[in-house]
Amino acid sequence: MNYIPITKPTLEEEEIGNMNEVLTSGMLVYGKYAKEAELKLQQIFKRKYAVLLPSGTTSLNIAVSILDIKEGDEVITTPFTFISSASCILNSGAKVVFADIDPQTFNIDPKEIEKKITKKTKAIISVDLFGNPADYNRIEEICKQNKLLLIEDAAQAHGAEYKNNPAGSFGDISIFSFYGSKVITSGEGGALLCDNKDIYDRALLLRNHGQNDIGSYQYSSLGHNYMMPDTSASILSAQLSKLELFVKVRRSIALIYNQGLSKISGLTLPIEQKDSKHCYSCYTIRLDKEKYKRDKILKLLNENGIGARVYYPISLHLHPLWKEYVYEFKKGMFPEAERASQEVLSLPIYPKLTQLESERIIDFVRKILN
Ligand SMILES: *Cc1c(COP(=O)(O)O)cnc(C)c1O
Repeated sequence: MNYIPITKPTLEEEEIGNMNEVLTSGMLVYGKYAKEAELKLQQIFKRKYAVLLPSGTTSLNIAVSILDIKEGDEVITTPFTFISSASCILNSGAKVVFADIDPQTFNIDPKEIEKKITKKTKAIISVDLFGNPADYNRIEEICKQNKLLLIEDAAQAHGAEYKNNPAGSFGDISIFSFYGSKVITSGEGGALLCDNKDIYDRALLLRNHGQNDIGSYQYSSLGHNYMMPDTSASILSAQLSKLELFVKVRRSIALIYNQGLSKISGLTLPIEQKDSKHCYSCYTIRLDKEKYKRDKILKLLNENGIGARVYYPISLHLHPLWKEYVYEFKKGMFPEAERASQEVLSLPIYPKLTQLESERIIDFVRKILN
């Protein structure tokens, strides 16, 4: 039987056509398609400004720098996410402060955020994990009350919505990733979005050696070379036009899983919150650790051609990396994140996953859980 990967990009005539055009033109650097993709990002995610960057991680690092987050500041984020949501804080010299997650949504719990606010708190980095938007009503309220900045890490949430607003439209800055495993991709890639002209101008400077105009050789500040080539942008532009369709198909696959895997004791299905639209960048189930051995089930799935994965097997605070710094994180500090890391399991989901394949996965999961 064929191997079903956890995810697979949908690359079709549009991407190939665009890429062909770029290669034929010989103009490989930031250009026509990059500008086109930035316009599409602004339109789709309802933002005034969009800046393409080489990755989601670069976008987070730039975001933190633009908001002047630095040594002496504290930034609150979730311990149950990809490393970049926290490493951007470490890179800035500020202190990483974790707030535990809501076990139902896997997202940062606003009640836990409130407990972690001090005089030094400068910002919150929220993550829309697995494509499920964080609780922005509450988070924005907390930011307003405490005068905190907000960065939305929407790296997994292209096409998701919260109260009719797209994920990626929240906070002072939002960021996306277009890494190969995300809902839309350019191989490697990212973007920073905002509504503030000063933030936008800073991002442009930082992206291109501190030049006001690309190729002017006039440097008004210190910068980097974080340009996205048009080869990548040509793929991204095609992907952006298909985002709505991709999300529609992902949601229909999630529905098939929801129906096929319902009513299994000890198994919790992903939830879609009221007034939210999940884009299912991951379809993540939860296996009660008192009842199932998650890692054994993962192994069985993989051995039988089903590319299930665990996002993420270890809560961020329990990695060795903190030992180099002043942190004293211990087991038990973030019980919900720790428990989630032991119980979650993500099943394959991508637009080209066939009904037959999803049924094969459902049958196999049902069989091994019985
Ligand atoms: C993928 C991801 C990133 C990083 O994006 P890259 O493009 O891989 O650098 C950041 N945050 C989250 C939540 C992600 O899933």
